[in-house]
Amino acid sequence: MRITSVDAATANQHLPDALRTFRDPETGRSLADTNQLSGVQITGNRLGCRLALTTYCRPIAEEVRERLSSHLVARLPGIEQVDIELVDLDRPPTPLGQIGLRVRRVIAVGSGKGGVGKSTVATLLALTLKRFGCRVGLMDADVYGPSVPQLLGLSGRPAIADGKIQPMQANGMPVMSMGFMVERDQAVIWRGPMLHGSITQFLRDTNWGQLDYLIIDMPPGTGDIALTLSQLLPMGGAVVACTPQEVALLDAGKAIAMFRQTKIPVLGLVENMSGFVCPDNGRRYDIFGKGGVRQRAEQLQLPFLGELPITMTLREAGDAGELEAALEDPSVLEPMQAISRQMLRSLEDLASRQPLGPAL
Ligand code: ADP
Repeated sequence: MRITSVDAATANQHLPDALRTFRDPETGRSLADTNQLSGVQITGNRLGCRLALTTYCRPIAEEVRERLSSHLVARLPGIEQVDIELVDLDRPPTPLGQIGLRVRRVIAVGSGKGGVGKSTVATLLALTLKRFGCRVGLMDADVYGPSVPQLLGLSGRPAIADGKIQPMQANGMPVMSMGFMVERDQAVIWRGPMLHGSITQFLRDTNWGQLDYLIIDMPPGTGDIALTLSQLLPMGGAVVACTPQEVALLDAGKAIAMFRQTKIPVLGLVENMSGFVCPDNGRRYDIFGKGGVRQRAEQLQLPFLGELPITMTLREAGDAGELEAALEDPSVLEPMQAISRQMLRSLEDLASRQPLGPAL
């Protein structure tokens, strides 16, 4: 069928409306209110355009391209094919809160109790987002048992330059941890104001550069740090890690309540140590049970972000200080990519419901 120019005019007429009903995943703004879409060209039944997204959106960029494409096909009469070129929108993040952190979203990773793999999940989340091409920093705020330096094989003391703490680098990812500040095995007794001061300093006085995400590994259970964080800056949200065991699930409820009290939106639950795939026979054993976290998330009306199996790769890589290498294993990488994307969808959902932030 030949498409006449009249059809192009009709499609053009409907374009503003079609753009009004499509939101940018990061800001929640409609595409009609931003200049992220450009170069619209209609030839016959095809529309070509360019969509600009920041590196924040990398994990779901392809998904957004497909969503926009079917959105336009559905709303523009005569258009049957949409070709979207994705381009990088290089806009610095708006400084957050009174401390002016140049980060798009700060994400806390918490748990009700220790030993459920919270630090492992937080570190893998940061590394997976980095692998997608996002700019990520990792802050270990688990002041009572900082394990991020161990997981990433980092040691020594951060340098000070130009009045700022220079974070340690894990293959180009800035990392800060209380573990860099105190001797190993040294017991630290934190008093409230001291804790508040240290966390503030870690955020304000560290040269984080410009980031899409700052992932914060929270201490298990206690609310002091969550409170400090929520007072210092707008928090993007919290991810809660737990194992499928009932005991851990009950504890996870405490972490959720703590985030809710401090007005940090819970982005969802991650089930860690979810099943063990035996390297000898390939069979899966659900050592800690299965599906409990998904069920609990549904009861609490919270998103379930996904499950990470218990693997030898993870345990060995963590102990060797080479957690990043574990992402070479598809049984770790694939679930972590799914969890990261699901977290972004939760953030997207929040952005579309909250008062609009600044346009990109
Ligand atoms: P938490 O921060 O909750 O105290 P960690 O992340 O420090 O827990 O993990 C505790 C131990 O369990 C570490 O030795 C870590 O390597 C191991 N671990 C965590 N998650 C997994 C997993 N999915 N598979 C194998 N080992 C894991």
